[in-house]
Amino acid sequence: MNRRTKIIASIGPTSTSDAVLKDMIEAGMDVARINLSHGTVDDGLEVFHRIRSVSESLNKNVGIMADLPGPKVRIGKLTESVELEPNAEILLSPDDGPSTGERFTVDYSGLLTDVRVGDRLAIGDGSIIIQVSDHAGDALKARVLYGGTVQGSPGLHIPSDRLKLSTPTPHDLKLLDAFVEAGVDMVAISFVRSAHDIRRVGTEPAPRGPLIVAKIETRAAVDNLDGIIAASGAVMVARGDLGAECSIEELPHLQKDIIARCIALGRPAITATQMLESMITAPSPTRAEASDVANAVFDGTSAVMLSAETAIGRDPARVVSTMATIAERADENFDYAGWAHQIKRDRLSEPQSVDAAVTDVMTMATWRAASEMGVKAILCISRSGFTVRAIARFRPEAKIIGFSPELRTVRQLSMSWGATPVKIDRISDNEVAVGDAMRMARDEGHIRSGDIVAVLGGSTATIGATDTLRMARCP
Ligand code: PGA
Ligand code: MN
Repeated sequence: MNRRTKIIASIGPTSTSDAVLKDMIEAGMDVARINLSHGTVDDGLEVFHRIRSVSESLNKNVGIMADLPGPKVRIGKLTESVELEPNAEILLSPDDGPSTGERFTVDYSGLLTDVRVGDRLAIGDGSIIIQVSDHAGDALKARVLYGGTVQGSPGLHIPSDRLKLSTPTPHDLKLLDAFVEAGVDMVAISFVRSAHDIRRVGTEPAPRGPLIVAKIETRAAVDNLDGIIAASGAVMVARGDLGAECSIEELPHLQKDIIARCIALGRPAITATQMLESMITAPSPTRAEASDVANAVFDGTSAVMLSAETAIGRDPARVVSTMATIAERADENFDYAGWAHQIKRDRLSEPQSVDAAVTDVMTMATWRAASEMGVKAILCISRSGFTVRAIARFRPEAKIIGFSPELRTVRQLSMSWGATPVKIDRISDNEVAVGDAMRMARDEGHIRSGDIVAVLGGSTATIGATDTLRMARCP
């Protein structure tokens, strides 16, 4: 069996060279993520063009995701590292200057009014927790609950329902323009709170514009999930910040619930953060991490994501290949039949538009025909990739091959579960298109002459509904 769950890897200092990128692509990286929280726009664009040229030289359609930082609050630069002892008191003041050991500056002007006594704030990756104890003139007094070493300019996690900052920020929109201009395939939006935040991004619908990925990492996003999914092209379970926003014991259940609701609507779901964290330095993952990757696959995730493991890790390509083998093995044991029945039950009970209902019944029929006849492949002819994502949500055991004349669609499908995207010149009328698709799939070795396949598409060249299914024998 070939791997069906996709792999997204973040690119950073240890993975920007041509040689490492090449090794990562060969190890199974389907999508490269550029985290724009670090570095300048020009640094990001340079990495973007490098990934494009390396993947072109390997003849691979690697998707590229630009991840916008969103309203991240930071502590002003510390000239030297500071050890915070439990119960120590520190001051927090809204200021852009440098921090000292006793007074941390915070680049959020609403600090004194929006943050309240009793709020818990996390510093850095979340291992240091402080609690606001009092107001002290132009600063807040906070007590250290869990101490540790603070250095550089770490993030300060303020509960998102306190923050008055909106996302995307003006800085995000500038980054967005630069990457849309460069032709980026996907854009991730951080700290989304409502569908309105997604609409403010304002790019052309995919594939003319990038696929918009809503990062679910605030309480508000969990509360407004259905609207956010409907407004987005894909969703990320951003466990790093989400884990700081909600109780840690809720996190596995939120992950399952977010993935299930997202896939039912035909949007890819990504599981992110700390999946193989120990491999930043270690040559093999912990047992818990191996199980985490496999369990994300069982939860129905479309893609699993690597962050620091590949951005600053010791051996990025090894991390990718480790993730690829764990995910591929988990794909084998996935409960395919159970999953499809669950999606059917959920979709049939949902009131919806005519277009959505047509797509639902046609993809259900395709899944059923493909499983009962044991077809080798489902060939999807799709301009926007919509049809491919709509059938992929049923997790059919047959290969899914997505044919599109749009290069951007082909690259956006790099994130879709189980899909092998193929670029075609144009979408001909149905009869010709079906024959062409079968011949191409055969010539590329996906199917053989005589195989029965399902061919799925829209009957017109418009985007909106999947309405045609053909069962055909490959010439
Ligand atoms: P980040 O998002 O890595 O940009 O913070 C992912 C997460 O919060 O898990
Ligand atoms: Mn985050």
